[in-house]
Amino acid sequence: GTARIAVTGLATMGSNLARNLARNGFRVAVHNRTPARTRALVEQHGHEGDFVPAETLPDLVAALQRPRQIIIMVKAGQPTDAVIDELADLLEPGDMIIDGGNAHFADTRRREARLRERGLHFVGAGISGGEEGALNGPSIMPGGSAESYQHLGPVLETIAAKVDGQPCCVHVGPDGAGHFVKMVHNGIEYADMQLIAESYDLLRHVGGLEPAAIGEVFRTWNSGDLESYLVEITAEVLGHVDAATGKPLVDVIADQAEQKGTGRWTVQEALELGVPVTGIAEAVFARSLSANTDQRAAVRAAFPEAEQAAAKAPEGLVEDVRHALFASKVVAYAQGFDEIRAASQTYGWNIDLGAMATIWRGGCIIRARFLDRIRAAYDRDPELASLLVDDYFASAVEQAREAWRRVVVAAVRAGVPTPGFSSALAYYDALRAERLPAALVQGLRDYFGAHTYRRVDRDGSFHTLWSADRSEVSA
Ligand code: NDP
Repeated sequence: GTARIAVTGLATMGSNLARNLARNGFRVAVHNRTPARTRALVEQHGHEGDFVPAETLPDLVAALQRPRQIIIMVKAGQPTDAVIDELADLLEPGDMIIDGGNAHFADTRRREARLRERGLHFVGAGISGGEEGALNGPSIMPGGSAESYQHLGPVLETIAAKVDGQPCCVHVGPDGAGHFVKMVHNGIEYADMQLIAESYDLLRHVGGLEPAAIGEVFRTWNSGDLESYLVEITAEVLGHVDAATGKPLVDVIADQAEQKGTGRWTVQEALELGVPVTGIAEAVFARSLSANTDQRAAVRAAFPEAEQAAAKAPEGLVEDVRHALFASKVVAYAQGFDEIRAASQTYGWNIDLGAMATIWRGGCIIRARFLDRIRAAYDRDPELASLLVDDYFASAVEQAREAWRRVVVAAVRAGVPTPGFSSALAYYDALRAERLPAALVQGLRDYFGAHTYRRVDRDGSFHTLWSADRSEVSA
Protein backbone atom coordinates (compact mmCIF):
# COMPACT_ATOMS: atom_id res chain seq x y z
CA GLY A 1 0.00 0.00 0.00
CA THR A 2 0.91 3.66 -0.30
CA ALA A 3 -1.06 5.43 2.43
CA ARG A 4 1.07 6.97 5.18
CA ILE A 5 -1.48 6.40 7.94
CA ALA A 6 -5.03 5.14 8.48
CA VAL A 7 -8.03 6.12 10.55
CA THR A 8 -10.80 3.69 11.51
CA GLY A 9 -13.93 5.06 13.15
CA LEU A 10 -15.22 8.03 11.21
CA ALA A 11 -17.72 9.63 13.54
CA THR A 12 -17.11 13.26 14.58
CA MET A 13 -13.60 12.85 15.92
CA GLY A 14 -12.28 10.29 13.45
CA SER A 15 -13.48 12.04 10.32
CA ASN A 16 -12.11 15.39 11.49
CA LEU A 17 -8.77 13.83 12.35
CA ALA A 18 -8.64 12.13 8.93
CA ARG A 19 -9.38 15.47 7.25
CA ASN A 20 -6.68 17.15 9.32
CA LEU A 21 -4.18 14.49 8.18
CA ALA A 22 -5.25 14.81 4.54
CA ARG A 23 -5.12 18.61 4.63
CA ASN A 24 -1.58 18.36 5.89
CA GLY A 25 -0.56 16.34 2.86
CA PHE A 26 -0.65 12.83 4.30
CA ARG A 27 -2.18 10.12 2.17
CA VAL A 28 -4.73 8.73 4.62
CA ALA A 29 -6.63 5.46 4.41
CA VAL A 30 -10.08 5.68 5.98
CA HIS A 31 -12.49 3.05 7.26
CA ASN A 32 -15.66 2.82 9.29
CA ARG A 33 -17.67 -0.21 10.46
CA THR A 34 -20.68 1.18 8.60
CA PRO A 35 -19.26 1.97 5.14
CA ALA A 36 -21.80 4.74 4.47
CA ARG A 37 -19.76 7.02 6.75
CA THR A 38 -16.59 6.32 4.77
CA ARG A 39 -18.34 7.16 1.52
CA ALA A 40 -19.87 10.31 2.98
CA LEU A 41 -16.48 11.51 4.18
CA VAL A 42 -14.85 11.03 0.79
CA GLU A 43 -17.82 12.55 -1.05
CA GLN A 44 -17.98 15.65 1.12
CA HIS A 45 -14.31 16.21 1.81
CA GLY A 46 -12.37 14.20 -0.76
CA HIS A 47 -11.15 17.40 -2.40
CA GLU A 48 -9.33 18.44 0.78
CA GLY A 49 -6.57 15.88 0.32
CA ASP A 50 -5.58 12.36 -0.54
CA PHE A 51 -8.03 9.84 0.93
CA VAL A 52 -7.96 6.08 0.32
CA PRO A 53 -11.36 4.68 1.29
CA ALA A 54 -11.46 1.07 2.53
CA GLU A 55 -14.61 -1.05 2.87
CA THR A 56 -13.11 -3.57 5.28
CA LEU A 57 -10.30 -3.70 7.81
CA PRO A 58 -8.23 -6.08 5.61
CA ASP A 59 -8.60 -3.50 2.80
CA LEU A 60 -7.49 -0.78 5.19
CA VAL A 61 -4.43 -2.74 6.25
CA ALA A 62 -3.57 -3.47 2.60
CA ALA A 63 -3.73 0.23 1.75
CA LEU A 64 -0.87 1.12 4.10
CA GLN A 65 2.89 1.55 3.82
CA ARG A 66 4.92 -0.42 6.34
CA PRO A 67 5.36 -0.18 9.21
CA ARG A 68 1.62 0.39 9.29
CA GLN A 69 0.05 3.06 11.48
CA ILE A 70 -3.65 2.83 12.22
CA ILE A 71 -5.51 5.31 14.40
CA ILE A 72 -8.63 3.95 16.09
CA MET A 73 -11.33 6.55 16.84
CA VAL A 74 -14.26 4.39 17.91
CA LYS A 75 -16.36 4.37 21.05
CA ALA A 76 -14.20 3.81 24.14
CA GLY A 77 -14.41 0.49 25.99
CA GLN A 78 -15.57 -2.78 24.44
CA PRO A 79 -15.79 -1.43 20.83
CA THR A 80 -12.15 -0.36 21.03
CA ASP A 81 -11.13 -3.85 22.21
CA ALA A 82 -13.10 -5.44 19.37
CA VAL A 83 -11.38 -3.32 16.74
CA ILE A 84 -7.94 -3.88 18.29
CA ASP A 85 -8.46 -7.66 18.29
CA GLU A 86 -9.50 -7.71 14.68
CA LEU A 87 -6.61 -5.49 13.61
CA ALA A 88 -4.01 -7.41 15.59
CA ASP A 89 -4.72 -10.52 13.53
CA LEU A 90 -4.18 -8.57 10.31
CA LEU A 91 -0.96 -6.77 11.25
CA GLU A 92 2.71 -7.75 11.31
CA PRO A 93 5.43 -7.15 13.87
CA GLY A 94 6.55 -3.52 13.95
CA ASP A 95 3.11 -2.18 12.96
CA MET A 96 1.41 0.40 15.19
CA ILE A 97 -2.11 0.72 16.52
CA ILE A 98 -2.95 4.13 17.95
CA ASP A 99 -6.02 4.53 20.18
CA GLY A 100 -7.06 8.18 20.04
CA GLY A 101 -10.23 7.62 22.06
CA ASN A 102 -10.82 8.49 25.70
CA ALA A 103 -9.56 5.21 27.13
CA HIS A 104 -8.85 4.66 30.80
CA PHE A 105 -5.06 4.43 31.16
CA ALA A 106 -5.33 1.03 32.87
CA ASP A 107 -7.04 -0.33 29.74
CA THR A 108 -4.26 1.18 27.67
CA ARG A 109 -1.62 -0.51 29.82
CA ARG A 110 -3.39 -3.85 29.45
CA ARG A 111 -3.76 -3.49 25.68
CA GLU A 112 -0.17 -2.33 25.23
CA ALA A 113 1.21 -5.31 27.14
CA ARG A 114 -0.88 -7.76 25.15
CA LEU A 115 0.08 -6.30 21.77
CA ARG A 116 3.75 -5.96 22.72
CA GLU A 117 3.85 -9.75 23.17
CA ARG A 118 2.80 -10.03 19.55
CA GLY A 119 5.46 -7.60 18.36
CA LEU A 120 2.98 -4.79 17.75
CA HIS A 121 3.25 -1.25 19.06
CA PHE A 122 0.22 0.09 20.86
CA VAL A 123 0.03 3.84 21.36
CA GLY A 124 -2.61 5.25 23.69
CA ALA A 125 -2.87 8.86 22.57
CA GLY A 126 -4.89 11.41 24.49
CA ILE A 127 -6.45 13.87 22.08
CA SER A 128 -7.93 17.07 23.43
CA GLY A 129 -9.83 19.87 21.79
CA GLY A 130 -13.09 18.23 20.75
CA GLU A 131 -14.22 18.18 17.15
CA GLU A 132 -12.84 21.62 16.37
CA GLY A 133 -9.40 20.62 17.68
CA ALA A 134 -9.40 17.33 15.78
CA LEU A 135 -9.92 19.24 12.55
CA ASN A 136 -7.72 22.29 13.03
CA GLY A 137 -5.09 21.14 15.47
CA PRO A 138 -5.62 19.31 18.75
CA SER A 139 -3.34 18.88 21.71
CA ILE A 140 -2.01 15.33 21.43
CA MET A 141 -0.61 13.25 24.30
CA PRO A 142 0.78 10.01 22.87
CA GLY A 143 2.10 7.21 25.06
CA GLY A 144 3.74 3.99 23.92
CA SER A 145 7.26 3.00 22.92
CA ALA A 146 9.93 5.49 21.92
CA GLU A 147 10.38 3.49 18.73
CA SER A 148 6.76 3.98 17.71
CA TYR A 149 7.07 7.71 18.34
CA GLN A 150 9.95 7.92 15.87
CA HIS A 151 7.52 6.90 13.14
CA LEU A 152 4.44 8.56 14.48
CA GLY A 153 5.85 11.75 15.99
CA PRO A 154 6.41 13.61 12.71
CA VAL A 155 2.81 12.94 11.63
CA LEU A 156 1.20 13.82 14.95
CA GLU A 157 3.33 16.92 15.43
CA THR A 158 2.28 18.11 11.98
CA ILE A 159 -1.44 17.88 12.68
CA ALA A 160 -1.26 19.16 16.28
CA ALA A 161 -1.95 22.75 17.33
CA LYS A 162 1.09 25.05 17.27
CA VAL A 163 2.01 27.73 19.77
CA ASP A 164 5.02 29.96 19.07
CA GLY A 165 5.87 27.51 16.30
CA GLN A 166 6.02 24.56 18.71
CA PRO A 167 3.65 21.63 18.23
CA CYS A 168 1.27 20.76 21.08
CA CYS A 169 2.37 17.15 20.92
CA VAL A 170 5.20 15.34 22.65
CA HIS A 171 5.96 11.71 23.47
CA VAL A 172 4.60 11.50 27.02
CA GLY A 173 6.04 8.15 28.07
CA PRO A 174 5.50 4.38 27.84
CA ASP A 175 2.22 2.44 27.77
CA GLY A 176 -0.59 4.34 29.58
CA ALA A 177 1.29 7.60 30.17
CA GLY A 178 -0.48 9.51 27.38
CA HIS A 179 -3.97 8.57 28.45
CA PHE A 180 -3.10 9.26 32.08
CA VAL A 181 -1.96 12.78 31.26
CA LYS A 182 -5.08 13.34 29.15
CA MET A 183 -7.18 12.23 32.12
CA VAL A 184 -5.49 14.67 34.50
CA HIS A 185 -5.86 17.40 31.87
CA ASN A 186 -9.61 16.79 32.02
CA GLY A 187 -9.54 16.79 35.82
CA ILE A 188 -7.79 20.16 35.84
CA GLU A 189 -10.40 21.39 33.40
CA TYR A 190 -13.10 20.45 35.94
CA ALA A 191 -11.31 22.40 38.68
CA ASP A 192 -10.70 25.41 36.46
CA MET A 193 -14.38 25.59 35.49
CA GLN A 194 -15.52 25.22 39.09
CA LEU A 195 -13.28 28.12 40.17
CA ILE A 196 -14.58 30.28 37.34
CA ALA A 197 -18.14 29.41 38.34
CA GLU A 198 -17.47 30.35 41.97
CA SER A 199 -15.98 33.67 40.87
CA TYR A 200 -19.14 34.39 38.93
CA ASP A 201 -21.36 33.39 41.87
CA LEU A 202 -19.45 35.69 44.23
CA LEU A 203 -19.50 38.66 41.89
CA ARG A 204 -23.21 38.13 41.42
CA HIS A 205 -24.41 37.38 44.93
CA VAL A 206 -21.85 39.19 47.05
CA GLY A 207 -20.89 41.84 44.51
CA GLY A 208 -24.40 42.47 43.23
CA LEU A 209 -23.31 42.51 39.57
CA GLU A 210 -25.49 41.33 36.70
CA PRO A 211 -24.28 38.56 34.35
CA ALA A 212 -23.46 40.94 31.49
CA ALA A 213 -21.34 43.08 33.80
CA ILE A 214 -19.60 39.98 35.14
CA GLY A 215 -18.95 38.95 31.55
CA GLU A 216 -17.17 42.29 31.10
CA VAL A 217 -15.09 41.62 34.20
CA PHE A 218 -13.98 38.30 32.71
CA ARG A 219 -13.20 40.01 29.42
CA THR A 220 -10.88 42.39 31.27
CA TRP A 221 -9.28 39.53 33.20
CA ASN A 222 -8.59 37.80 29.91
CA SER A 223 -6.00 40.42 29.08
CA GLY A 224 -3.93 39.68 32.21
CA ASP A 225 -2.43 36.69 34.01
CA LEU A 226 -5.73 34.83 33.75
CA GLU A 227 -5.73 34.92 29.95
CA SER A 228 -7.14 31.58 28.83
CA TYR A 229 -9.70 29.99 26.58
CA LEU A 230 -12.04 29.22 29.51
CA VAL A 231 -11.99 32.81 30.80
CA GLU A 232 -12.57 34.07 27.27
CA ILE A 233 -15.63 31.87 26.70
CA THR A 234 -16.96 32.69 30.19
CA ALA A 235 -17.27 36.29 28.99
CA GLU A 236 -19.16 35.04 25.93
CA VAL A 237 -21.59 32.84 27.84
CA LEU A 238 -22.30 35.45 30.53
CA GLY A 239 -22.90 38.12 27.92
CA HIS A 240 -25.36 36.03 25.97
CA VAL A 241 -29.08 36.84 26.19
CA ASP A 242 -31.70 34.11 25.69
CA ALA A 243 -33.75 34.94 22.59
CA ALA A 244 -36.94 33.32 23.91
CA THR A 245 -37.11 35.13 27.26
CA GLY A 246 -34.81 38.11 26.93
CA LYS A 247 -33.06 36.96 30.11
CA PRO A 248 -29.37 36.25 30.48
CA LEU A 249 -28.89 32.71 29.14
CA VAL A 250 -27.13 31.68 32.36
CA ASP A 251 -30.43 32.31 34.20
CA VAL A 252 -32.44 29.94 32.05
CA ILE A 253 -29.95 27.06 31.93
CA ALA A 254 -30.82 24.36 34.51
CA ASP A 255 -28.25 24.49 37.30
CA GLN A 256 -27.36 20.78 37.23
CA ALA A 257 -23.90 20.01 35.89
CA GLU A 258 -23.29 16.75 34.07
CA GLN A 259 -20.11 14.73 33.70
CA LYS A 260 -18.76 11.97 31.54
CA GLY A 261 -16.30 10.47 33.99
CA THR A 262 -12.75 11.65 33.38
CA GLY A 263 -12.88 13.99 36.39
CA ARG A 264 -14.01 11.09 38.54
CA TRP A 265 -11.20 8.89 37.17
CA THR A 266 -8.67 11.59 38.01
CA VAL A 267 -9.85 11.66 41.61
CA GLN A 268 -10.04 7.86 41.89
CA GLU A 269 -6.45 7.53 40.71
CA ALA A 270 -5.33 10.32 43.00
CA LEU A 271 -6.86 8.42 45.92
CA GLU A 272 -4.91 5.32 44.90
CA LEU A 273 -1.69 7.29 44.55
CA GLY A 274 -2.26 9.24 47.79
CA VAL A 275 -2.13 12.64 46.09
CA PRO A 276 -4.51 15.26 47.51
CA VAL A 277 -6.16 16.70 44.40
CA THR A 278 -8.71 18.55 46.50
CA GLY A 279 -9.51 21.11 43.79
CA ILE A 280 -10.47 18.47 41.25
CA ALA A 281 -12.35 16.43 43.87
CA GLU A 282 -14.38 19.47 44.97
CA ALA A 283 -15.22 20.21 41.35
CA VAL A 284 -16.43 16.65 40.71
CA PHE A 285 -18.45 16.65 43.95
CA ALA A 286 -19.89 20.09 43.16
CA ARG A 287 -21.26 18.71 39.89
CA SER A 288 -22.75 15.70 41.68
CA LEU A 289 -24.30 17.93 44.35
CA SER A 290 -25.83 20.21 41.74
CA ALA A 291 -27.45 17.22 40.06
CA ASN A 292 -29.14 16.04 43.31
CA THR A 293 -32.19 18.19 42.76
CA ASP A 294 -34.52 16.36 45.17
CA GLN A 295 -32.03 16.52 47.99
CA ARG A 296 -31.35 20.18 47.27
CA ALA A 297 -35.08 20.97 47.38
CA ALA A 298 -35.52 19.13 50.68
CA VAL A 299 -32.62 20.87 52.39
CA ARG A 300 -33.62 24.25 50.97
CA ALA A 301 -37.11 23.75 52.42
CA ALA A 302 -35.68 22.83 55.83
CA PHE A 303 -33.59 26.03 55.98
CA PRO A 304 -35.67 28.71 54.27
CA GLU A 305 -34.03 31.71 55.96
CA ALA A 306 -31.55 33.49 53.69
CA GLU A 307 -28.25 34.76 55.04
CA GLN A 308 -28.16 38.49 55.68
CA ALA A 309 -26.72 39.88 52.49
CA ALA A 310 -24.38 42.80 53.06
CA ALA A 311 -26.03 46.07 52.07
CA LYS A 312 -23.11 46.97 49.90
CA ALA A 313 -20.50 44.97 48.05
CA PRO A 314 -17.17 44.78 49.89
CA GLU A 315 -14.65 47.33 48.70
CA GLY A 316 -12.38 46.00 45.97
CA LEU A 317 -14.29 42.73 45.58
CA VAL A 318 -13.64 42.35 41.85
CA GLU A 319 -9.91 42.63 42.29
CA ASP A 320 -10.00 40.34 45.33
CA VAL A 321 -11.88 37.68 43.38
CA ARG A 322 -9.35 37.93 40.58
CA HIS A 323 -6.57 37.22 43.07
CA ALA A 324 -8.52 34.38 44.68
CA LEU A 325 -9.21 32.84 41.29
CA PHE A 326 -5.57 33.02 40.29
CA ALA A 327 -4.26 31.59 43.58
CA SER A 328 -6.84 28.78 43.62
CA LYS A 329 -5.98 27.97 40.04
CA VAL A 330 -2.30 27.69 40.91
CA VAL A 331 -3.28 25.21 43.63
CA ALA A 332 -5.43 23.14 41.23
CA TYR A 333 -2.63 22.92 38.68
CA ALA A 334 -0.04 22.20 41.36
CA GLN A 335 -2.19 19.29 42.52
CA GLY A 336 -2.72 17.98 38.99
CA PHE A 337 1.00 18.07 38.25
CA ASP A 338 1.67 16.32 41.56
CA GLU A 339 -0.64 13.54 40.43
CA ILE A 340 1.17 13.18 37.11
CA ARG A 341 4.50 13.09 38.90
CA ALA A 342 3.29 10.45 41.36
CA ALA A 343 1.96 8.25 38.56
CA SER A 344 5.14 8.73 36.58
CA GLN A 345 7.13 7.44 39.56
CA THR A 346 4.75 4.58 40.28
CA TYR A 347 4.61 3.34 36.69
CA GLY A 348 8.15 4.27 35.65
CA TRP A 349 7.03 6.71 32.94
CA ASN A 350 9.71 9.37 33.39
CA ILE A 351 7.32 12.16 32.33
CA ASP A 352 8.75 15.61 31.66
CA LEU A 353 6.30 17.84 33.56
CA GLY A 354 7.37 21.04 31.81
CA ALA A 355 6.67 19.43 28.45
CA MET A 356 3.12 18.62 29.55
CA ALA A 357 2.51 22.31 30.23
CA THR A 358 3.91 23.07 26.78
CA ILE A 359 1.53 20.78 24.89
CA TRP A 360 -1.51 22.12 26.76
CA ARG A 361 -0.82 25.66 25.58
CA GLY A 362 -2.82 25.17 22.40
CA GLY A 363 -5.58 23.00 20.96
CA CYS A 364 -7.12 21.99 24.28
CA ILE A 365 -9.73 23.44 26.60
CA ILE A 366 -7.33 24.50 29.36
CA ARG A 367 -5.04 26.40 26.99
CA ALA A 368 -3.78 29.47 28.81
CA ARG A 369 -0.95 31.93 29.08
CA PHE A 370 -0.37 30.57 32.56
CA LEU A 371 1.02 27.32 31.11
CA ASP A 372 4.14 29.12 29.88
CA ARG A 373 4.81 29.98 33.52
CA ILE A 374 4.38 26.35 34.53
CA ARG A 375 6.77 25.20 31.85
CA ALA A 376 9.30 27.81 32.94
CA ALA A 377 8.93 26.66 36.55
CA TYR A 378 9.71 23.03 35.70
CA ASP A 379 12.48 24.09 33.33
CA ARG A 380 14.12 25.96 36.18
CA ASP A 381 13.74 23.01 38.52
CA PRO A 382 12.37 19.65 37.31
CA GLU A 383 12.36 18.44 40.94
CA LEU A 384 10.18 21.30 42.19
CA ALA A 385 8.48 20.17 45.43
CA SER A 386 5.28 21.92 44.34
CA LEU A 387 4.40 24.53 41.75
CA LEU A 388 3.59 26.72 44.75
CA VAL A 389 7.26 27.10 45.63
CA ASP A 390 8.42 28.27 42.21
CA ASP A 391 9.49 31.93 42.53
CA TYR A 392 6.89 33.24 40.12
CA PHE A 393 3.96 31.33 41.60
CA ALA A 394 5.11 31.84 45.18
CA SER A 395 5.17 35.60 44.74
CA ALA A 396 1.84 35.62 42.89
CA VAL A 397 0.20 33.60 45.67
CA GLU A 398 1.87 35.75 48.32
CA GLN A 399 0.39 38.83 46.65
CA ALA A 400 -3.01 37.18 46.40
CA ARG A 401 -3.07 35.79 49.92
CA GLU A 402 -4.96 38.51 51.81
CA ALA A 403 -7.47 38.98 49.00
CA TRP A 404 -8.01 35.21 48.87
CA ARG A 405 -8.87 35.17 52.59
CA ARG A 406 -11.19 38.18 52.28
CA VAL A 407 -13.03 36.46 49.44
CA VAL A 408 -13.51 33.22 51.36
CA VAL A 409 -14.67 35.18 54.46
CA ALA A 410 -17.14 37.18 52.35
CA ALA A 411 -18.45 34.00 50.75
CA VAL A 412 -18.91 32.27 54.10
CA ARG A 413 -20.70 35.33 55.57
CA ALA A 414 -23.05 35.56 52.59
CA GLY A 415 -23.70 31.82 52.44
CA VAL A 416 -22.29 31.53 48.92
CA PRO A 417 -20.70 28.09 48.53
CA THR A 418 -17.11 28.26 47.34
CA PRO A 419 -15.73 24.75 47.86
CA GLY A 420 -13.01 25.35 45.26
CA PHE A 421 -11.69 28.59 46.75
CA SER A 422 -12.02 27.39 50.34
CA SER A 423 -10.40 24.03 49.84
CA ALA A 424 -7.58 25.53 47.80
CA LEU A 425 -6.91 27.97 50.63
CA ALA A 426 -7.06 25.16 53.19
CA TYR A 427 -4.60 23.13 51.11
CA TYR A 428 -2.20 26.06 50.99
CA ASP A 429 -2.54 26.72 54.71
CA ALA A 430 -2.07 23.05 55.54
CA LEU A 431 1.08 22.71 53.44
CA ARG A 432 2.53 25.82 55.09
CA ALA A 433 1.63 24.87 58.65
CA GLU A 434 4.43 24.42 61.15
CA ARG A 435 2.45 21.74 63.00
CA LEU A 436 -0.61 19.88 61.75
CA PRO A 437 -3.27 18.27 63.94
CA ALA A 438 -2.26 14.99 62.29
CA ALA A 439 -0.39 14.52 65.57
CA LEU A 440 -3.71 14.20 67.37
CA VAL A 441 -5.02 11.83 64.69
CA GLN A 442 -2.00 9.59 65.34
CA GLY A 443 -2.67 9.78 69.09
CA LEU A 444 -6.26 8.67 68.57
CA ARG A 445 -5.23 5.85 66.26
CA ASP A 446 -2.79 4.66 68.89
CA TYR A 447 -5.47 4.86 71.59
CA PHE A 448 -8.15 2.80 69.88
CA GLY A 449 -6.07 0.57 67.63
CA ALA A 450 -2.52 0.47 69.01
CA HIS A 451 -1.42 1.74 65.61
CA THR A 452 1.68 3.39 67.20
CA TYR A 453 3.18 6.83 66.52
CA ARG A 454 6.56 8.35 65.89
CA ARG A 455 7.99 11.08 68.10
CA VAL A 456 9.53 14.40 67.16
CA ASP A 457 12.50 13.90 69.51
CA ARG A 458 13.53 10.23 69.06
CA ASP A 459 13.63 7.63 66.27
CA GLY A 460 11.41 4.57 66.38
CA SER A 461 7.73 3.72 66.82
CA PHE A 462 5.96 4.06 70.10
CA HIS A 463 2.75 3.00 71.81
CA THR A 464 1.16 4.28 74.96
CA LEU A 465 -0.42 1.60 77.16
CA TRP A 466 -3.71 3.49 77.26
CA SER A 467 -5.74 0.91 79.17
CA ALA A 468 -2.97 0.05 81.64
CA ASP A 469 -0.67 2.50 83.42
CA ARG A 470 -0.31 4.78 80.35
CA SER A 471 3.42 4.36 80.21
CA GLU A 472 5.05 4.40 76.80
CA VAL A 473 6.65 1.38 75.18
CA SER A 474 8.81 1.07 72.12
CA ALA A 475 6.88 -0.74 69.38
P1 NDP B 1 -18.28 7.92 19.23
O1 NDP B 1 -17.63 7.78 20.56
O2 NDP B 1 -19.68 8.37 19.18
O3 NDP B 1 -18.14 6.53 18.45
C1 NDP B 1 -18.75 6.31 17.19
C2 NDP B 1 -17.80 5.53 16.29
O4 NDP B 1 -17.46 4.27 16.89
C3 NDP B 1 -18.44 5.22 14.95
O5 NDP B 1 -17.45 5.31 13.95
C4 NDP B 1 -18.90 3.80 15.15
O6 NDP B 1 -19.05 3.08 13.95
C5 NDP B 1 -17.76 3.23 15.94
N1 NDP B 1 -18.08 2.00 16.64
C6 NDP B 1 -18.89 1.85 17.71
N2 NDP B 1 -18.92 0.56 18.10
C7 NDP B 1 -18.11 -0.12 17.25
C8 NDP B 1 -17.72 -1.48 17.16
N3 NDP B 1 -18.16 -2.39 18.02
N4 NDP B 1 -16.88 -1.82 16.16
C9 NDP B 1 -16.41 -0.90 15.30
N5 NDP B 1 -16.73 0.41 15.36
C10 NDP B 1 -17.58 0.78 16.32
O7 NDP B 1 -17.40 8.87 18.27
P2 NDP B 1 -16.63 10.24 18.56
O8 NDP B 1 -16.08 10.65 17.25
O9 NDP B 1 -17.46 11.21 19.34
O10 NDP B 1 -15.43 9.82 19.53
C11 NDP B 1 -14.47 8.85 19.18
C12 NDP B 1 -13.53 8.62 20.34
O11 NDP B 1 -12.87 9.84 20.62
C13 NDP B 1 -14.22 8.22 21.64
O12 NDP B 1 -13.38 7.34 22.36
C14 NDP B 1 -14.34 9.51 22.40
O13 NDP B 1 -14.40 9.30 23.79
C15 NDP B 1 -13.06 10.20 21.98
N6 NDP B 1 -13.07 11.65 22.08
C16 NDP B 1 -14.17 12.37 21.74
C17 NDP B 1 -14.17 13.74 21.83
C18 NDP B 1 -15.36 14.51 21.42
O14 NDP B 1 -15.34 15.74 21.59
N7 NDP B 1 -16.39 13.88 20.89
C19 NDP B 1 -12.98 14.49 22.28
C20 NDP B 1 -11.85 13.67 22.53
C21 NDP B 1 -11.92 12.30 22.45
P3 NDP B 1 -20.50 3.03 13.20
O15 NDP B 1 -20.54 4.29 12.36
O16 NDP B 1 -20.42 1.81 12.37
O17 NDP B 1 -21.55 3.00 14.25
